Amino acid sequence: MWTYHSIMQKIEEHRKSLPIASVEKPLIEVVQKNDIVIIVGETGCGKTTQLPQFLFNAGFCREGKMVGISQPSCIAALTAAKRVAEECDVQLGQRVGYSIRFDDTSSSSTRLKYMTDCLLWREALVDPLLSRYSVIIVDEAHERTAHTDVLLAFLKKVQLDRSKAEIGGVLKLIIMSASLVDARVFSEYYGGANVFYVPGRQFPVNIFYTETDYVDAALVTIFQIHLEEEQGDILVFLTGQDETESLERLVQKELEHLPEDKRNLLPLALFSSEQQMRVFAPAPFGFRKVVLSTDTSITIPGIRYVVDPGFVKARTYDPSKRMERLDVVPASKALSLQRSRRAGREGPGKCYRLYREMEFKKLEDSTKPEIMRCNLSHVILQLKALGFDDILGFDFIDKPSRSAIEKALEELQLLGALTDDWKLEEPAGHQMARLLPLDPVYSRALILANQFNCLEEMLITVAMLSVESIFYDPRDKREEEARSTRNHFASVEGDHLTYLSVYRESNELLEQIKAENSEANVDQIMRKWCKDNFVNSHSLKHARDTYRQIRGNVENMGFNVSSCGNDMLEYLRCLATTFFLKAAQRQMDGTYRALESGEIVHIHPASVLFSSKPECVIFNELVMQTSNKYIKNLTRIDPLWLPPHHYNSEE
Ligand code: ADP
Ligand code: MG
Repeated sequence: MWTYHSIMQKIEEHRKSLPIASVEKPLIEVVQKNDIVIIVGETGCGKTTQLPQFLFNAGFCREGKMVGISQPSCIAALTAAKRVAEECDVQLGQRVGYSIRFDDTSSSSTRLKYMTDCLLWREALVDPLLSRYSVIIVDEAHERTAHTDVLLAFLKKVQLDRSKAEIGGVLKLIIMSASLVDARVFSEYYGGANVFYVPGRQFPVNIFYTETDYVDAALVTIFQIHLEEEQGDILVFLTGQDETESLERLVQKELEHLPEDKRNLLPLALFSSEQQMRVFAPAPFGFRKVVLSTDTSITIPGIRYVVDPGFVKARTYDPSKRMERLDVVPASKALSLQRSRRAGREGPGKCYRLYREMEFKKLEDSTKPEIMRCNLSHVILQLKALGFDDILGFDFIDKPSRSAIEKALEELQLLGALTDDWKLEEPAGHQMARLLPLDPVYSRALILANQFNCLEEMLITVAMLSVESIFYDPRDKREEEARSTRNHFASVEGDHLTYLSVYRESNELLEQIKAENSEANVDQIMRKWCKDNFVNSHSLKHARDTYRQIRGNVENMGFNVSSCGNDMLEYLRCLATTFFLKAAQRQMDGTYRALESGEIVHIHPASVLFSSKPECVIFNELVMQTSNKYIKNLTRIDPLWLPPHHYNSEE
């Protein structure tokens, strides 16, 4: 029987067995002697969960000081904090807490605080010296997201400011990376900072290559492993929520064809906080888990098999055309390597790459840092809000081109966030900064909608646009059924109003349930409604959370949330005025020309405007598919609503 004592003893044994445990003493010494330390160690060696505990025990949290650990995603922050609270045998929110977008469990007694990059930013806006922290750990720095990159630069300044101000003592900075190459880049950036290597413990992983359409290939491979290989859980890496969810359904469906005694396979798509606890818990007795994930940075116990189709979803941005694209592209060698090593954490493992071996050799060594390939407007707005005026002279780790920076400054000016001499505009610029990480263009839409009394509609729109896909596409014959069922949401004006009506209808249903029967299982009824209407229930829930959060933010800023009722004209004009950089006009041959870039694009088949083909539209998303460019999330507009002076791409 498991007693409390034996559980704690087991946790203690586990902690002692981690590679990082053997270097606790020298590691703490390095941190005590140096203000910046870079730590390199394989995923799974214990960096995220152990180092903060070492620091606590070494006295870094005396006098109420905290250790902040920044994570690249909400799930990473949440699971790490839960695990560490368990290891420390404390209640979550006491000594160990986390703080993420919709959820803050930290309290005045929290000493080890796991949080997302964005939340750390928010704290910095209020307390620019981060004076409550003795140590900031930037975790998973090798992912090189734009957020992390700017954070690293910012923390360098905070450290300096704090020593100058003689407030709060020294701020120790620890950068953690799973990649040696990046560790060298960071060390150089911090003037030759100390790099500490945690010895690894990696069991051999056998690699197999196959080929074909990767979702189908993944399905086949999962069942091959399940039926032929020894015990051990499976981890599959996919590129988006649509894929993880459709593969989850496909696995479930396939299982029905298996004999009773072979149905002990449990597919779990990792994306939402409801399911994530099941992902980390051991599979039910006699079952094998298959975790479907888009995220490489979290550690899941029990994994022995990795299935890697070799793709990621990546945003690329062309500043000269102001065109951002979201494409599925081949993963880098570094990422593929990290994925495969996930199979060898607890014993020898196997990794199935769903492509040919010669293709692996052709992959890029590593992914270009995001800051070199993204729209910099949010980064720059953030820097401006934190008081960095000279963006062109800013000390980036990898410096984006001058023209990319200038284009972003110009865009912020066009959106009304910056003045002609590139200072934060009062009040719009400050308001947009307070709404970060919301894309500045969405903040602009909210500010404008506030002036034109359609803020409620715009809040819903922004919330619905911030999730991956509101509708789900059944991957079988039911496509026609899905289309006709959804027809009643469709608006002739376009997708934005269509999403609005999905949201509103679900809202009415909720209110009806609450009024009629307070005992009803709301979640269950909502899920059924979503299923009947081919709406993705996780996405809708996420959109509702997002709505509530952004609404709270704008109300705090003094906005009054009012609705325009049935008169949508002002709302449509607000869309046109905000998204004018993403406007497209129909041409003689039925294709569209994006006005800002001059590119030829097509309306995506998923849009409600696919067959009506209006003369002029604004869009929110550009994707590449089968070598054509498609625009998604469209609304038709009157070209006269667009600012006349702006487009000059025809020369
Ligand atoms: P790193 O940050 O170096 O990748 P972690 O500190 O995240 O390593 O994990 C160290 C070990 O702790 C893992 O190998 C795993 O065995 C265990 N672990 C981490 N998170 C969890 C969790 N949520 N549940 C159970 N075990 C965990
Ligand atoms: Mg980690």
